[in-house]
Amino acid sequence: MRLGRRSFALALAGLPVARLSPARAQAAPSILLDNVRFFDGRAMTSPTRLLMASGAVRILGTDAAPDGAQRVDLSDRYIIPAMIAAHSHIGHTSGATSGRQYYTRENVEAQLRRYQAFGIGAAASLGLNAPLFHELRAESRTGRLRGALLLGAGPGLGMPEGAPPAGPMNLSDDQVIRPANAAAMRQGVNDLADKGIDIVKVWIDGLGDTVPQMTPEMARAAVEAAHARGLRVAAHIHDLSQARLAVGAGVDILAHGIRDKEVDDGLLSLMRQRGTWYIPTIQIDEAEYLYADDPAITEDPFLRAALDPAMVARMRDPAWRAAQLGRAAPRRSDVRINKLNLKRIHDAGIPVAFGTDSGGTPLRVQGFAEHRELELMVEAGLTPAQALDIATAKSAQLLGLTDRGSVRDGLRADLVVLDADPTASIRNTRRIVRVYQAGQEVAGSIT
Ligand SMILES: [Zn+2]
Repeated sequence: MRLGRRSFALALAGLPVARLSPARAQAAPSILLDNVRFFDGRAMTSPTRLLMASGAVRILGTDAAPDGAQRVDLSDRYIIPAMIAAHSHIGHTSGATSGRQYYTRENVEAQLRRYQAFGIGAAASLGLNAPLFHELRAESRTGRLRGALLLGAGPGLGMPEGAPPAGPMNLSDDQVIRPANAAAMRQGVNDLADKGIDIVKVWIDGLGDTVPQMTPEMARAAVEAAHARGLRVAAHIHDLSQARLAVGAGVDILAHGIRDKEVDDGLLSLMRQRGTWYIPTIQIDEAEYLYADDPAITEDPFLRAALDPAMVARMRDPAWRAAQLGRAAPRRSDVRINKLNLKRIHDAGIPVAFGTDSGGTPLRVQGFAEHRELELMVEAGLTPAQALDIATAKSAQLLGLTDRGSVRDGLRADLVVLDADPTASIRNTRRIVRVYQAGQEVAGSIT
């Protein structure tokens, strides 16, 4: 973001720029957002008036605004609640590489600020977090850490020698717990619950039979220990058989889409019966070929705002592109089947939450991946309003964030102002004018 452009965008909105600086906003008692349409979970409302006071929203309608409220005219603007990423990884990448060395306070905070600038107000880091996570999570809750709210699973739990693969992913021993038996699994979950986590993450995937898959006994041990501590369990899966194992073991959330086969009626009814949640993460596989297919995409200012220059150089390298495209066929198939399964699962009334696995590798571009995922969900057959509801209220519900995810009286004023209607075209979520966190402006236009 360049300040010049941001000031320009604010000037276009008819606002004196200085009045919106965070310092001034803090001093201002409340802000009246006038003539604004907002997403109510199903559609955009007619133009109305919102008040942001003491960090919360009030739908003012025709009621009088309090004396001294600063009026902001949002004619032709659209507000959505800040999005909630229920499957991401934070502090694991930097530039074009990934590794344990990047789990630092500075990098985590920079990535949380990136998410926030892209309209994501809370992000769950679903595993691979170093021990510093627990401290940063606590600081994020009290507002000492800037950016999106940090939630997560701590390191997460996988099988010895299993997924996630330590070598290829540059993982150190403190980023994944690998219990040898069910008792150690229960102990691992309990230790994490003591240290402070929001969710338990397990890796079930055997990565095409190349590593040990998690056994039903180990998955059940994780579920029992987590439920005893009031925590939900999210499972990394790829195949239908792994999804069946996970749901059968009582896992609460499939943290990836089913990508090898179309989901069958048996699993659909079991998921419905158990109340299992589904996070499709369609972009995870698309990321492996999207940039290689056409490097001109790197000229898109919205993507560029999220990309490190080292990644731009990589995406334009013909040798890199050839290698990516050479192994892209299975990923294209994954995306096709993932979309089919999302539509079937959503139509079956199974709750869906929002996530991309962004930040797991440098190709999973934090901020951009989320907006691209919304488009992929719409390509799968969901309406833009359904995709937005999943990315906001549904994901808040999954993560137990009762104070946000909707524009409603008393909820946090975590709002994203757009200059075009995202229910008309989902790509309009990219047209960010301004981001508010608890009623204070924290970011402006990205491009
Ligand atoms: Zn992940």
